[in-house]
Amino acid sequence: MSAAFFQHLQEQLQGIHDAGLYKSERIIVGTQDATVRLADGREVINLCANNYLGLANHPAVVEAAASALRTHGYGMGSVRFICGTQDLHKQLEARLSAFLGTEDTILYAAAFDANAGLFEPLLAEQDAVISDELNHASIIDGIRLCKARRYRYRHDDMEDLERCLARARADGARFGLVFTDGVFSMDGTVARLERMRALCDAYGALLGIDECHATGVLGARGRGTHEHGGLFGQVDIITGTLGKALGGASGGFTSGRREVIELLRQRSRPYLFSNTVAPSIVAGSIAALDLLEASTGLRDRLERNTRWFRRAIAEAGFDIRPGEHPIVPILVQEAGLAQSLSARLLELGVYAVGFFHPVVPRGQARIRVQMSAAHDIHHLQAAVDAFVRAGHELGLLP
Ligand SMILES: *Cc1c(COP(=O)(O)O)cnc(C)c1O
Repeated sequence: MSAAFFQHLQEQLQGIHDAGLYKSERIIVGTQDATVRLADGREVINLCANNYLGLANHPAVVEAAASALRTHGYGMGSVRFICGTQDLHKQLEARLSAFLGTEDTILYAAAFDANAGLFEPLLAEQDAVISDELNHASIIDGIRLCKARRYRYRHDDMEDLERCLARARADGARFGLVFTDGVFSMDGTVARLERMRALCDAYGALLGIDECHATGVLGARGRGTHEHGGLFGQVDIITGTLGKALGGASGGFTSGRREVIELLRQRSRPYLFSNTVAPSIVAGSIAALDLLEASTGLRDRLERNTRWFRRAIAEAGFDIRPGEHPIVPILVQEAGLAQSLSARLLELGVYAVGFFHPVVPRGQARIRVQMSAAHDIHHLQAAVDAFVRAGHELGLLP
């Protein structure tokens, strides 16, 4: 019996290999930074971390985390409502609310959990949830767990969104919630929030955004997609992560109206049944917010790096998705080419990963690079030089 089961798993694994979809993990020895050291000792330019502001190894963040280890200990050994709430957790929640322009915030062990635990407590059978087809897996899973009627609109298609809103209304929905990634991670596309807010208002729906790739990155003060789109204070629900720009450790949050957050504390299953964020991570995240609120320097540097790289790689002849986000997709179409380019880049000292079907649509294989405030222009120039060299060798450039 069990032999047959394990045989069955082996066949599935072989299928993943045969389809060229097997994901292996590269081992890094040392810290996450502008460059990373590989297990073979080589140091390569790092173009694939979500370490947008370079805080993953920032001295102030590391020191705050180390100091909290001494004052608040290593772990809590508890969920929040039993004995897992320290002063630090309440401080971080208040700081995130102020940063995001909301009334209250609830922490989770991960943004995945924030999304997984968001919809089920807030929406029931009589309600509607309307979601972009390319939303993050955690949003899709969260929606699956709730009983509300589901509507899915074509990616970034505002007419289709309006059709969904009209259909939800015709179906007699009591409440409607439109939910989108603020920034879509495969393309760096920014959701058109102004249009979405207007549609939500016209149909009496709530608007929620997942800000994992936007918090600390978009907007003049790095507050996110709502600030970028002129809608600061006008989005009903915001979910986000502590695991990307805000230090990159782990943890997530949901932020919004007091009633929403209070009900999540009572009913959201990943919050009720999973451990508190570790004190050192909470303190590191507070230090990250201190840095962001004291100065827009890191966010401005990220913006300058992004502009510089986008222009340089396009001028070199590569096909990129236009935009302004530090996620820069460099399109090569074929999966095989994406893999060869990524492998050659690594030989040339640049770590950049290829993405292909099913992560992106067939025929839209790409190398996705991500800029960071940790990069200096010399890192980015060396990266462009490597792209040009590999591009010529692989026939991507004339
Ligand atoms: C990374 C990401 C998540 C998950 O964040 P974690 O805190 O690592 O769980 C959720 N949503 C989006 C859009 C993301 O990019």
